[in-house]
Amino acid sequence: MKYVIRIVAVLLLLLVVGAAVYVFYSLSNRPDISAFNSLKTLTKASNGPELRATFLGVSTLLLDDGTTAILTDGFFTRPNSRQLLLEKIAPDTALIEKTLQRAGITRLAAVIVNHSHYDHAMDAPEVAARTGAMLIGSESTANVGRGWGLPERQIAVHRAGDVVTFGRFRITLLQGRHVPSPFTGGEIAGPLKPPVRANAYLEGGSFMVLAEHGDKRILINASASFVPDAMQGRKADVVFLGTGQLGKRPASYMEDYWRETVERPGARRVIPIHWDDFTRPLDQPLVPLPSLLDDFAASMKFLTERGKSSGVDIKLPEVFVAFDPFEKLPAARN
Ligand SMILES: [Zn+2]
Repeated sequence: MKYVIRIVAVLLLLLVVGAAVYVFYSLSNRPDISAFNSLKTLTKASNGPELRATFLGVSTLLLDDGTTAILTDGFFTRPNSRQLLLEKIAPDTALIEKTLQRAGITRLAAVIVNHSHYDHAMDAPEVAARTGAMLIGSESTANVGRGWGLPERQIAVHRAGDVVTFGRFRITLLQGRHVPSPFTGGEIAGPLKPPVRANAYLEGGSFMVLAEHGDKRILINASASFVPDAMQGRKADVVFLGTGQLGKRPASYMEDYWRETVERPGARRVIPIHWDDFTRPLDQPLVPLPSLLDDFAASMKFLTERGKSSGVDIKLPEVFVAFDPFEKLPAARN
């Protein structure tokens, strides 16, 4: 009997050690981004009147036409995994200031929050406060703003279908959907005052952001899912496409995602976003999410193959580098 107990104990121990090794390995293992360097060919744009985009990690994206600048999310604090697991988190105001400076951001017309998870909404009120921007988003995002003490006059609650204009930017908030995850769903019911646990930042519904500027149309979809027909009758030339966790989904899911967010609006260029490991600081080179959470190589393989077969250009953005998203855009398809 004792012998059997000993065998079971050893097996259990092996199982626990095996699981720990697996988690450790898949948290530290990630695809080598340099394999995709050939997709980083968007050239640095100089300051001027043309529309420029700057990728700032996750789905934080600056759009600037020289007169008006708008930002999605504005997430810069990027707490590390230990902080996420064991501690309460809060915006790092010094880091936000430093990052805004590095990105050359002084004034913003709007900070548009895709959804209210911490990696999108947490820093947005502080960014709005520092740049004079309107905080645009759901009721949950508004509650992130209120909890941070952002004045009500700088907060605007919107629903899918709403259109807001800032300078020459015409922004349409479209119904989005969050990629299935244990954290999908829920609303932030009242002002959320950090420090709080990361999981206090509930999704609060997801938007896709359609930014039109003259005859140029950009779709930003932070989370790798979609609401069927959300792009029905709408056009976008360039899509900033959220790919976080996409590589873990079945091929049919990727096909549906492509059809609804790229094919349907007639996009000619796809620029993947939300693929970087946002537990690492922005002043270090971006690396893809670890293999426990995502399969970046699988997403990129799908996108590049699908792009090739349908004449859609795939480009990877470089962080802090302003570029013209319409540079050498392939001709429209019929
Ligand atoms: Zn999210």
